Amino acid sequence: MEPKQFRHFVNGEFVGSTKTFEKRRPTDNALIGHVHEGGQAEVDAAVAAGKAAMKGPWSTMSVEQRVDLLHKVADEITRRFEDFVIAERDDIGQPRSMLEHVAIPRGAANFKTFADMVKNVPTESFLTPTPDGAGALNYAIRVPKGVIGVVCPWNMPLLLMTWKVGPALACGNTVVVKPSEETPGTATLLGEVMNAVGVPKGVYNVVHGFGPNSAGEFLTKHKNVAAITFTGETRTGAAIMRAASDGIRDVSFELGGKNAGIVFADCDFDKAVEGIARAAFLNCGQVCLGTERVYVERPIFDKFVAALKVKAESIKPGAPDEKSTGLGPLISAEHQRKVLSYYEKAKAEGANIVTGGSVPQMPGELANGHWVQPTIWTGLPETASVIREEIFGPCCHIAPFDSEDEVIAKANDTDYGLSTTIWTTNLSRAHRVAAQIEVGITWINSWFLRDLRTPFGGSKQSGIGREGGVHSLEFYTEQRNICVKL
Ligand code: NAD
Repeated sequence: MEPKQFRHFVNGEFVGSTKTFEKRRPTDNALIGHVHEGGQAEVDAAVAAGKAAMKGPWSTMSVEQRVDLLHKVADEITRRFEDFVIAERDDIGQPRSMLEHVAIPRGAANFKTFADMVKNVPTESFLTPTPDGAGALNYAIRVPKGVIGVVCPWNMPLLLMTWKVGPALACGNTVVVKPSEETPGTATLLGEVMNAVGVPKGVYNVVHGFGPNSAGEFLTKHKNVAAITFTGETRTGAAIMRAASDGIRDVSFELGGKNAGIVFADCDFDKAVEGIARAAFLNCGQVCLGTERVYVERPIFDKFVAALKVKAESIKPGAPDEKSTGLGPLISAEHQRKVLSYYEKAKAEGANIVTGGSVPQMPGELANGHWVQPTIWTGLPETASVIREEIFGPCCHIAPFDSEDEVIAKANDTDYGLSTTIWTTNLSRAHRVAAQIEVGITWINSWFLRDLRTPFGGSKQSGIGREGGVHSLEFYTEQRNICVKL
């Protein structure tokens, strides 16, 4: 396979840089392409293109025309479905079933959902009494913010990027996207889609590169970027927040998690095991909403640990296109080293290793990939590193509990607050416990079931703000009050 060139997409054209870096496939470490590394000049050009496009045909389009265009973007992604599957498959090595059923369809749906939503945006108006009796009419108009800086992670590249680009464009903004250095594929492909359906030049821009002292930092520090939406690690969020403070720019952050799964003895046992297995091991554990801390009520603790072990051991690692593959690799050698370092820490801190704990034997070229075994621990104190820190790998620690109060306290004893799953057939308990968990989203008897209209985001160090539905419209628009004396 000839290595690709992943170029920036600026003002409707693919442009290169003199500096490039390698993109390797996580399944077998094969070189798949050279990514152009953007610097200050490339970011300046992309932001200038975005700013100019705010005054061009994009700004005079009717809402209906904009909605129509974004539907065409979604339809073109669907028409080029296989190209998107391959780009994402080579970037992250996810099993094809997940790409075909979740990642790519959601990527397209994000454009349609938010396009449809802007057709019905409510506005406010008030007749205000005045001392002369004539009154005043106050009304609000909603305007786009301008050029939005979109900084993305690698774990679900198209889905998470379009979750931001879809509503930003639907609201009439322009964007400069900085994809993760690990996953340049689908953001680049989306440039071709934008041109194919006639999105005006400069509305969608992409600059590749790294974070600090590279495209990410230059974009988030740029004075002509009106607002920044970011998904990634909490400490990166802190750096971007410092950058955004210069110019008092608005931020929306979706950050890390250390999510608890709570299993009561009265749960539907098989569904709980299935659900926790998905939450712990899907996408090789590289899901911000995943469960790395599991608490199981004592009467079913041993049975649950044994059943989850069977599940973990039944997940087959392999090439994404093999039908039997249930587990892909980690994104990179660096991330593999990080996850394996936690596997070592768990051992050193005295964990009982129920299953896993190392690297699986892979055949042929796959042996060069970044694989790790699904891993389950028990027996650690709540202070252990694998219970406190986000690992972002296919692993979880399971601990027993004896009361609702105890498990609520343990679930909340973390700096993070992204999501929780609760497994019980007692509905009153489910609602009672859910209301006390300090997170942005709680699933009861399910996991990763999303309705794009609902508020999505994290509490504590898991984020700032909410996206989804009207909450995205709030972030991607600004309201202006106009007061008319009658
Ligand atoms: P990361 O923070 O390392 O990188 C994310 C992006 O930020 C990349 O594009 C990177 O180049 C850029 N970046 C890094 N430093 C920067 C800087 N100083 N200035 C500007 N940009 C910078 O995160 P990651 O490793 O790509 O993703 C995994 C993390 O993302 C995990 O912590 C996970 O929990 C989190 N995540 C959260 C959600 C959510 O919805 N809350 C969703 C997915 C992933």
